[in-house]
Amino acid sequence: MRNNTRYNMQPKSSHHINGAYVEDIDGAAIENHYAATGEIIATVHSATPAIIDQAITAAHNAQAEWAARPGIERGRILLRAAELLRQRNDEIARIETHDTGKALQETLYVDAVSAADNFEYFGHIAATMVGENIPLGESFALTRLEAVGVCAAIGAWNYPVQVASWKAAPALACGNAMVFKPSEMTPLSALILAEILSEAGLPDGLFNVIQGKGDVGAALTAHPLVDKVSLTGSVPTGSKVMAGAAESLKLVTLELGGKSPLIIFDDADVENAVSGALLGNFYSTGQVCSNGTRVFVQSGIRETFTRRLIERTAAIKLGDPMDEDTQMGPMISASQRDIALSYIEKGKSEGANLLFGGNAVKMQGLENGHFIEPTIFDGVTDTMTIAREEIFGPVLSILEFNNEEEVISRANDTDFGLSAGVFTRDIARAHRVVEKMQAGTCWINNYNITPVGVPFGGVKRSGMGRENAKAAIEHYSQIKSIYVEMGDVDAPY
Ligand code: NAD
Repeated sequence: MRNNTRYNMQPKSSHHINGAYVEDIDGAAIENHYAATGEIIATVHSATPAIIDQAITAAHNAQAEWAARPGIERGRILLRAAELLRQRNDEIARIETHDTGKALQETLYVDAVSAADNFEYFGHIAATMVGENIPLGESFALTRLEAVGVCAAIGAWNYPVQVASWKAAPALACGNAMVFKPSEMTPLSALILAEILSEAGLPDGLFNVIQGKGDVGAALTAHPLVDKVSLTGSVPTGSKVMAGAAESLKLVTLELGGKSPLIIFDDADVENAVSGALLGNFYSTGQVCSNGTRVFVQSGIRETFTRRLIERTAAIKLGDPMDEDTQMGPMISASQRDIALSYIEKGKSEGANLLFGGNAVKMQGLENGHFIEPTIFDGVTDTMTIAREEIFGPVLSILEFNNEEEVISRANDTDFGLSAGVFTRDIARAHRVVEKMQAGTCWINNYNITPVGVPFGGVKRSGMGRENAKAAIEHYSQIKSIYVEMGDVDAPY
């Protein structure tokens, strides 16, 4: 089915604060471009200091009453939001495709769906977030799970509504209020989420969206009424957010970048391993934090694996992201595409062997789009730049290995630690290897699957804290311990 309808993407206004759209044209204009054509689809204004204060104050004023409600009441509103996200799935998919350039084939099935799953999961468990009773002989102690307060959340541009929801759903379930700043590249879908939460019955002030670049993110991080900051973004931004939050000792969750290993052993099912490598490198035009961009392939399977990888990569349909047959859209911006192209040049100049792709593409009718071929290198060594730095584009590197011990040590030889994947039919070996992986999320015989019930996050420089699953609760709540004396006070005085 073809659907080239171009929607008017201009939102009602730039920000959504205290349950209503708010504008302040004193803030610098931020143009929003469609990645497939380069044309401007919306313009929003960066939050001024007054808007930042307005949003944080609204969150602050609304939070205590929300936290005092029974979890089941909070959960009911989140469940309604999940339903509304599903009802508006197609609209959100079209917004995400225009905002990011990701193929509609993906956004129709992943972005709002993952967001809805999150609200559904945390809606269901909101009533179960309770403390413990700790017997102490005659006396006992209680713990209460209490909200943190006002959470500032800052998003990346690759999965806009998903990133917002992965933060908002657990935060709201735990009784917090949130001010969310989407990436300046993708300002639109968070505003729809704010509309949906209001319609679902969320009291005003609990989920606010303000626009802006890094300076607005930094202002949120520094604000005295903010108790916690959650960032999804790059490692350098993670360092800045942590440094900013350190001043006032705010809690921090960081979901950062990666350079993850995907290990293919000789005994792997070749077609499944190739599927994993394709999903782990070319989905969302390679703009996925957890991508397995260092594909370690054991010598015995290398030839067959590489042949099938190239054949199947050559069949990927690159093109108009609004065409549902398109499998790979453009990159989000000319500058991101140019970064990927410069890494490809580095790969070539440092001696890697370019097996497939490597070029920018001019698509007929979409000549100003930021298209790039899915790209495969082999002969990549551990010290080459393309094997060490996050490219965040569709560039796959094949590194050959001989044995298990060797590949474990090479796979871990990185500052990052977001994810890792292993393909093998030997399940004992699979477990042995993932146990040694320095990574927050590992997949055996699959790649990049992130169901809401499984914690997601990184170690080393890929971040701290976890999103999804019950693990997220501890990052949006704090424990109060209450000792209860049942006898007399034993004092030596
Ligand atoms: P980025 O770090 O450039 O920006 C992320 C967000 O931080 C944006 O909203 C930006 O405006 C804001 N920001 C920038 N400077 C700031 C500052 N000093 N203080 C506060 N906020 C600031 O990242 P990006 O280019 O938007 O996203 C790509 C990166 O995100 C990649 O490294 C990718 O791996 C990572 N990512 C990680 C995950 C994950 O879950 N681990 C998911 C998606 C993307």
